[in-house]
Amino acid sequence: MVIKLTRDERQFLCRYDIPLEGVLDARGQCRQEYQLVMKENGARVAITDSRCAAEGHRMRSRHGKCIQCDPSSIAFSKRYRDTGYVYLALSLSPKILIKIGSSKKKNLDLRAEELNSHKCGGRTNWKIVNAVLCLEAGRVENEIQAALKDYQVVLDYGSKSGASRELFKCHLLVAVDVFDEITGVNKAK
Ligand SMILES: [Zn+2]
Repeated sequence: MVIKLTRDERQFLCRYDIPLEGVLDARGQCRQEYQLVMKENGARVAITDSRCAAEGHRMRSRHGKCIQCDPSSIAFSKRYRDTGYVYLALSLSPKILIKIGSSKKKNLDLRAEELNSHKCGGRTNWKIVNAVLCLEAGRVENEIQAALKDYQVVLDYGSKSGASRELFKCHLLVAVDVFDEITGVNKAK
């Protein structure tokens, strides 16, 4: 995909763990056209020429809904329930930043590469330092994020959609404690 994404769009895709391979450049295509292509190639998001009425967003779900205004329209409910890897990613400079996420990928180096290519949190030096295979990985991820919410980082991206719920600034041991405790009881056997 050669399309240039805005910072908001990159952050959104990062937040919902949608890799760039899952994004279709559907500019110049009508809704019927891109829906067909998405179905064929499994893309979850289409970048379209149309702008949503509320905020001017251009990313659409397979059903033609604005995914930024209505994230529940993304095909991510499956991720919420599926077994997957819940991970803790760490970026050390310029200052410590921690990301809690989940991924279907077993190769977590690839997931780290994606975080870096998305410039998640404005960083390109993410490393995944811990990952546990969990039942209902999306739910476990949310639970850890909720437990760490006092340390949540609100990044200033000039837009409310840039506020990140998966990034945290705290001592690594604090995050690791919460991570270990919650993944421990949700481990896939
Ligand atoms: Zn919108």
